[in-house]
Amino acid sequence: MSRDINNKFWDEELETLPREELQKRQLEDLKEIVKFAYDNAPYYKRSFDEAGVKPEDIKTLKDIEKLPFINKKTQRDTQGVGSFLGELAAVPEEDVVFVSTSSGSTGVPTMSPFTKKDFDEFQDTESRWFWQIGMRPNDRYVHALNFSLYVGGPDVIGAQNLGALCIWGGTLPSERLLFILKTYQPTVIWTSPSYAWQLGEKALKAGYDPKKDFSIKKIIVAGELGGSIDATRKAIEDIWGAEVFDFYGLSDIFGACAAQCEYHDGLHIAENHILVETVDIHTGEVLEPGQTGELVFTTLRKHARPLIRFKTGDIGRIDTTPCKCGRTHGRIHILGRKDDMFIVSAVNVFPSDIEAVIREQSDLTGEYLIRIFEKDFTSKYAVEIEKATGVDKDDDTVAAEVSAALKARIGVKPARVVVHPDGGLNTRSEHKSRRVIDERNIDYNI
Ligand SMILES: [Zn+2]
Repeated sequence: MSRDINNKFWDEELETLPREELQKRQLEDLKEIVKFAYDNAPYYKRSFDEAGVKPEDIKTLKDIEKLPFINKKTQRDTQGVGSFLGELAAVPEEDVVFVSTSSGSTGVPTMSPFTKKDFDEFQDTESRWFWQIGMRPNDRYVHALNFSLYVGGPDVIGAQNLGALCIWGGTLPSERLLFILKTYQPTVIWTSPSYAWQLGEKALKAGYDPKKDFSIKKIIVAGELGGSIDATRKAIEDIWGAEVFDFYGLSDIFGACAAQCEYHDGLHIAENHILVETVDIHTGEVLEPGQTGELVFTTLRKHARPLIRFKTGDIGRIDTTPCKCGRTHGRIHILGRKDDMFIVSAVNVFPSDIEAVIREQSDLTGEYLIRIFEKDFTSKYAVEIEKATGVDKDDDTVAAEVSAALKARIGVKPARVVVHPDGGLNTRSEHKSRRVIDERNIDYNI
C-alpha cells in the first residue's frame, strides 16, 4: 500500500463527499439493502408485508419512515428461529465467516454475523478511524480490548491493514500491560476510559512516570462515555501526556461505527455504512437532525444480517454541519443509554452529566457512585465521592460544594452527597466499571 502519510484522509474522496452526493449513495444502498432483506430474510418479508410496504416504495431517504422499527428484542426473538442464524439473517450460513456476540448483560447474548465482504468493509472502516486520529505505519499499537467474542477484538486488523505494528494485548493484567508499555514502547493504545485512567494511576503507584517512561502519544477509548466528557478526557490526558480519542461501536454493527477527529467535537459516523435517524424516546416520532432523541441506525451495506431501523437504546443527536477537519460525514453526540437516564423533578439526568461535574472538582479523586432511588413517588439521586488525599477541607464543605456544582450543571440537587476518603469507593475495576446503582425497583414500603 502506498498511501501518502501526510494526507490526513484514509479515503479522501469518501470522507469529503459533498452531502448531496453522500445522500445519493445512501439512497442507492438503502434501496438495494431493503430489497435484499425483503427477498432473503424471513423476518423482514413478514414485517414489511404486515406494514403494507414493498421495497419499491423506497424512493427517497425519507421513505425509510414507512418501514417498521426493530430493536434488541427483535434480534433475541428471531435468533436461531428457522436456521442457526435466525430470521434476520439474509445469507446462508456458508457465506458467513465471523460472528461476534453481545455481552448479554441485558439478556440473551445476540450474534452478529459477517460475510467476508462485510468483514473487509468493517476493517476498512476501522483503518479509516485509526488514520483519522493520526495513526500511521510507523506507529506501534497495543490493542488492549477483549478478544473473546467481542466485536471490538478484530478491530486490531484495521490497524494492521493500515501498516502499524500491532501488539494483540487483549485484557492482560495491568502489571503485564505496563511491562509491555515499558519494554516495547508502543505509541498508541486502545482501552476503556475508566481503565485508561486507572492504568495511569497504577503506573504512577508502580513507580513509573507515564509521560517519561512510556511513549504513548494517543489513547483510544470506547465502551463507556468518558471519552466524550471533556473533564474525563483531560484527566486521562494529564496522566499520560497523550491525546485521547473517543470511539463508539455497537456489537450489532461494527467495533467502531464512529470516531472523534482532531477537533473532538462529536464523533464522525460512517454515513456510507449507517443511515442515522433520531426519534422521540417515548413516541418514536422522527426528529430533525440536531434534535436529541434515541438514535436509530440502518446498516446500508451489511448483507449477512441487515439491520433496518434498529433502535440502539442510545440517546444522542447528529450534527451534519461542516466539521473544521473537512470531513463531511455527520458527527454524533451520545448522552447515554436510554436505560441509564433518569428523571428528577422533570429534568432528564444522565450519569455522564454527573461524571462531568465530579471530574472537574480538584478536591476529589474523580471516582464516584450514583444511586437512583424513589422516595415520595419521585426519583431522586445520591452521589458518593472520594476526597483526594491532602485536601484539608472538612467533608461537609466538600459535600456542599459538589452539591452546588451539580445543581448548577444539571438543575437538580442530589438528595445527598456521601464523602469517602481516597480509595474508599469500590469502583476501581479492570477495564469496565459499574458506577450507577438503580434501586428504584425496590419497594420501600415492605
Ligand atoms: Zn472532524
